[in-house]
Amino acid sequence: MSIRFPHGPVVPEIGIGTWFVGDEPARRDGEIAAIRAGLDAGLRVVDTAEMYGDGRSEDLVGEAIAGRRDEVFLVSKVLPYNADAAGVRRAAHGSLTRLGTDRLDLYLLHWRGGVPFDETVSAFERLVADGDILSWGVSNLDPDDLAELPAGAATDQVLYNPIRRGPEVDLLPLLRGLGIPAMAYSPLEQARLLDHPALADLAASVDLTTAQLVLAWVVRSGDVLAIPKAGSVAHAQENAAALGVALPADVLAEIDRIFPAPRHPVPLEML
Ligand code: NDP
Repeated sequence: MSIRFPHGPVVPEIGIGTWFVGDEPARRDGEIAAIRAGLDAGLRVVDTAEMYGDGRSEDLVGEAIAGRRDEVFLVSKVLPYNADAAGVRRAAHGSLTRLGTDRLDLYLLHWRGGVPFDETVSAFERLVADGDILSWGVSNLDPDDLAELPAGAATDQVLYNPIRRGPEVDLLPLLRGLGIPAMAYSPLEQARLLDHPALADLAASVDLTTAQLVLAWVVRSGDVLAIPKAGSVAHAQENAAALGVALPADVLAEIDRIFPAPRHPVPLEML
């Protein structure tokens, strides 16, 4: 299964998250190895943000992808309080420097703040014109926010996993209608889902690990990209092995039974 972005790129449905990566010097080598192992195993999207560790995540990602930039679909995010015209440019160039690259594949507004969307989007469009970013998008915007956003976003990155199914009611259909993929963050609910006994049993019944089952479920529609964070080579390889896994109907039905989808709109949740 592949995810198609409106500006052209097609990427595998599972990527690599990097929140809290780069914070602990003792874990640095393992985290770099994990990103490289994920790329070796076929993952392409690497998601970071200027916020993560005040740039430490971007620094580490830059080191991990050095020499293999062209294999990566690189995503970073601007903080809402840097999202005015001058701030976007400054923040983007800071991210490019830390990442050791001349371009981002996708640059997101991390969440909605006080700067009018028009100003942020104009600044994004100028970065596109200059070749600093190849596309722009948003994160943590609900359908009402999206209605106010000027056209042209390549994605909305939101919290989505079996216990955060609210986006299925309104947001995911809306993005589908716009022809843009969603990015699912915290797809493993920061590992909290992995202790769920019924999920573990279900995963075992189809020879998957619980993480693989959850990831295959998150991306099942073909227009949702999951970006699990893996801090070890083993976890990165395990997650990559969920690429292309199509869950049988009875497994999907059982997940619906354990984690029923809401029937009515629920406010978009954030972590
Ligand atoms: P995830 O749901 O990706 O969970 C990460 C946790 O799961 C880590 O503890 C990791 O452990 C563990 N894990 C990963 N793979 C496995 C595996 N195969 N087996 C067992 N455990 C595993 O949480 P995140 O919050 O990190 O979300 C993913 C990414 O989404 C972030 O890193 C970030 O890039 C993005 N994000 C964006 C947000 C936004 O506002 N736009 C908000 C939150 C996240 P270990 O480290 O030991 O591998």
